[in-house]
Amino acid sequence: MNNTYETVIGLEIHAELSTKTKIFCSCKTDFGAPPNSQCCPVCMGMPGTLPTLNQKAVEYAVRAGLATNCEISLYSRFDRKNYFYPDLPKGYQITQYEFPICKNGYLDIDTDLGKKRIRITRIHLEEDAGKLIHDSGCGTLVDCNRCGVPLIEIVTEPDIRSSGEAEAFLRTLRSVLMFAGVSDCRMNEGSFRCDINVSVRKIGDSTLGTRSEIKNLNSFSFVTKAIEYEHKRQTELIASSGRVKRETRRFDESDGKTYSMRSKEEENDYRFFEEPDIPALILREEDIERIKKELPMLPDERMKLYLEEYRLTSDTAKVILSDISLAGFFEEAAKASKSPRTTANILVSDILSYSNEGVFSSKIQASQLAVLSDLFFTEQINSSTQKKLIKRMWEEGIDPMLTVREEDLLQINDADILSAIVDEVILENPKCVEDIRRGKTAATKTVIGKAMAKSLGKANPRIINEIVASKFKNEEKT
Ligand code: ADP
Ligand code: MG
Ligand code: ZN
Repeated sequence: MNNTYETVIGLEIHAELSTKTKIFCSCKTDFGAPPNSQCCPVCMGMPGTLPTLNQKAVEYAVRAGLATNCEISLYSRFDRKNYFYPDLPKGYQITQYEFPICKNGYLDIDTDLGKKRIRITRIHLEEDAGKLIHDSGCGTLVDCNRCGVPLIEIVTEPDIRSSGEAEAFLRTLRSVLMFAGVSDCRMNEGSFRCDINVSVRKIGDSTLGTRSEIKNLNSFSFVTKAIEYEHKRQTELIASSGRVKRETRRFDESDGKTYSMRSKEEENDYRFFEEPDIPALILREEDIERIKKELPMLPDERMKLYLEEYRLTSDTAKVILSDISLAGFFEEAAKASKSPRTTANILVSDILSYSNEGVFSSKIQASQLAVLSDLFFTEQINSSTQKKLIKRMWEEGIDPMLTVREEDLLQINDADILSAIVDEVILENPKCVEDIRRGKTAATKTVIGKAMAKSLGKANPRIINEIVASKFKNEEKT
């Protein structure tokens, strides 16, 4: 029964913009500052104060629109959304209702069946509300630091059909916004959070079912769980001849279920009206062109660069592009190195194992990674030396070039020297030689290993291989 119903999902995502100051005043937006240390009469809504629009916030919203293929409105406008809640000292939120700054965009996501386009209805600018802190000792406290932090709200069309697609969309959007430099999108700090609208309908139906809206999810796994729970709840309700109510629900992390908060009838009447204290926002074509020119390279374009210019494998490129600080670190090192591909491989296979999960932060400087990468790429050190050096660079902060010189770690590439080493090994290991002659290939590896050891790990393994192979081949002929 359940299988004959499909899920229909539309998302409303809030992202805090990375401006240094708030949207209508010059208070700072630093996360984690002591409560109420970053607010002023404007963002606390004192009578007689007037808002001044932050130009950077407008630029970031335009960037977000350009990065998500939206039309940018030359005319947009702010409106007041009136409601009463203790985290909103003004008694209204300034937002954009009828005339959003961006509209009609899209992002393509990867699904099991290939690319899928998810349309973006609109992106509008607004201010965040404060935060309530429920303290068991003193009751509920209000922190106004977040009042007036600039947000963009991104609203999608109901084009999403599964929790997997919802997650893919959110991941794609998050990475686009981060690379566009619009938001740091830290989900644990609430700077990227979303409301999900979910309904179900019989497959083949052309009208949408009644939806519920689940508020304020701040992790991919909560989004997935909430959608799956809603699909089950709604299909079961319909199967037992019930009706889905249009309502707002909340997701409970502890049991993975959603609970009704209020039905549509209990919804606030927001009494929207044009914000009288801020003039209409008029953009000129040349402003948009300038912002377009300043737009940092987006994930798709970076992927292309990594594959075509830097010659990375797509798996390596994906790993690096999963984290903006990792990508930044890689690009800095890649620019300074002879083989970006080698640099990327060292980064992904060696350095990442030392870095903690989460946001990448390196104890090694990008320029030093480039030096090490070049030492390896130009065959001045071999891979085991390279790995040992990375470990010491990370743990002890050694300088790779200096250490290679001081400790005489240069790879031995001289064929005569290596040939002499191999000869010694052959003389000392008649049993191995016997085995090789009888066709036991494992014995070849033993000879190579012993030669490597004799060189104190500094021999070029490729040349050693060639020498060993040729010595026994020549023998066959004579
Ligand atoms: P509201 O003003 O109540 O927030 P909107 O029409 O702006 O409503 O839609 C909000 C979000 O809900 C959008 O992402 C939209 O795609 C989604 N949505 C609308 N109708 C449905 C539905 N029947 N099922 C699932 N999602 C829906
Ligand atoms: Mg809504
Ligand atoms: Zn302020």
